[in-house]
Amino acid sequence: MTRVDSIQEKLRKPNNIVITTHFKPDGDALGSSLALFHWLKGRGHQVTVIVPSDFPYFLDWLPGREHVLIYTSDKVGSDQLIADADFIFCLDFNGLSRINEMGPAIGNAKGLRIMIDHHLEPEGFEDVRYWDSSAAATAQLVYRFIAGEMNDPDGISPEVATCLYTGIMTDTGSFRFRSTTADIHRIIADLIERGAENWQIHEHIYNSNTEHRLRFLGFCLANRLTVLPAFNTAYFSISRQDLENYGIQTGDTEGLVNYALSIQGIRLAALIIERGEAIKLSFRSIGEFPCNELSREHFNGGGHLNAAGGHSNGSLQETVEKFINILPIYQNLLTQ
Ligand code: 5GP
Ligand code: MN
Repeated sequence: MTRVDSIQEKLRKPNNIVITTHFKPDGDALGSSLALFHWLKGRGHQVTVIVPSDFPYFLDWLPGREHVLIYTSDKVGSDQLIADADFIFCLDFNGLSRINEMGPAIGNAKGLRIMIDHHLEPEGFEDVRYWDSSAAATAQLVYRFIAGEMNDPDGISPEVATCLYTGIMTDTGSFRFRSTTADIHRIIADLIERGAENWQIHEHIYNSNTEHRLRFLGFCLANRLTVLPAFNTAYFSISRQDLENYGIQTGDTEGLVNYALSIQGIRLAALIIERGEAIKLSFRSIGEFPCNELSREHFNGGGHLNAAGGHSNGSLQETVEKFINILPIYQNLLTQ
């Protein structure tokens, strides 16, 4: 495997570069991709960000968003860019299944694939690995990559700083999660000094509710939340009809699962939602409960200890029943 420190030399002359990230990109996925985009552009490269699917509306303001290509909107053009790329940066994912239909194009590409990621158990498709599962966000690693490995802290422009701040803020739940170390706060201080307007970023992400989204939240809290005190577990179960009734789009359900987790004493929260072909599950936990293990063993998924996801091909009702039925396996972890 090529070493990350050899990249600095390789990036001296202008190259064709593609940056990609996971399906349904979140704030960290898109923030770290656009940060790298701005930095590489600033060094004279030809750069395109290609994402496998659309992304939440509250990320639409990110600087450079207008240059992002959505793979499914132009497969032929995207495949050509991927085939012609000298470098392909793969951010915030470490298995080709996380980029859905883009998987074969990236898997077969001749360019050097550089993975920058913080998820557990990398699959190994990449040529260069810049990976740290203890990092709070991929944006933290991109910061370290630019300022440290590439030795270019002054290359962090206000645009780069804004995108990195967004990635770190969203992946740490606004600097709340356990992963929020002193080092994170030092990086954040540096990003603010370099031009990230922190209050505006919070405003864009968290105060951008639409009326229907807020009313949908009220509906879910009142009618779709079940609490299982015996297992310190709470979950939402949401049907396709519910989504249609409120005109719910990508991103509208982001953060919903955290309301279930915020109930006093709850250790495990789930969002079980009928979306697209399959049932999508999101898990969040407090403390040592391994959401990634539960997701991997029962719902074809994975993720982090305290935040993971997966899917099921059964009906919504069957999936909810399966979830309830596996809780006794974890009784000790949930109640000790
Ligand atoms: P979310 O619940 O926000 O969709 O996902 C939370 C985290 O779980 C993501 O950051 C990602 O690491 C992981 N995750 C979500 N869905 C999947 C999945 O289908 N497969 C895997 N391996 N990880 C997932
Ligand atoms: Mn991330």
